[in-house]
Amino acid sequence: MTENNINYGYITQYIRKIIPPNQGILNQMEEYAYENHVPIVQPEVARLIFVIAKIVNPTNILEIGTAIGYSAILLSNTLKPGGKIVTIERYEKMIKIAADNIKKANLENTITILEGDAEQILPTLEGQYDCIFIDAAKGQYMQFLPHCIRLLRSGGILISDNVLYKGMIATDTLVVRRKKTIVKRLRSYLDTISHHPQLESTIIPIGDGVAISYKKKNKKV
Ligand code: SAH
Ligand code: MG
Repeated sequence: MTENNINYGYITQYIRKIIPPNQGILNQMEEYAYENHVPIVQPEVARLIFVIAKIVNPTNILEIGTAIGYSAILLSNTLKPGGKIVTIERYEKMIKIAADNIKKANLENTITILEGDAEQILPTLEGQYDCIFIDAAKGQYMQFLPHCIRLLRSGGILISDNVLYKGMIATDTLVVRRKKTIVKRLRSYLDTISHHPQLESTIIPIGDGVAISYKKKNKKV
């Protein structure tokens, strides 16, 4: 589906047509996700996070929301030699499939799945990550944020997916009643990352909306 409330259908279609198709396991995973309605990153978002991560050339990536492991496997190609990805997933069925895919891709030594709810797991994590990708339950982004800021190194990049949530974040006219709480929380998330003293953020209207935040250097809090 290319027509949505984020971007013009013809723009998305054009961008998707010009993206070179993935080969091998990523291609198979795209087909699996499509057939089984697993919400992996859309092709144009995949390119965006891939290019950003290439620029960062991280040693450590933290991901919240593994699903079948698609974005983790994609991002493994941006790591410095010996670099690692830690990815958090709470849904057992997805964990199994992701572990399988990671094995097929020979990335067991590169990608580690942490099993459980990110809200419980994040407080237990230590160390510094060069790049963090949030792609999980949208109502929880605000809870994830303080941990992500703590775990992100100065000069590191935080990427947040689905932040414009079908256009609902930008205008009340699109908001459906049962999504009111999520919309409120995502608006508060975008407001917070946009005005946070430690972050420089931008919101990009592709896919379902992607926010990119840079953690400033030399700010002591
Ligand atoms: N990043 C993946 C897609 C993730 S879809 C890709 O592009 O390939 C979102 C996933 O996040 C789902 O599998 C869901 O089970 C998981 N999830 C949502 N909220 C979570 C939470 N609080 N903790 C752990 N996993 C969560
Ligand atoms: Mg997403």
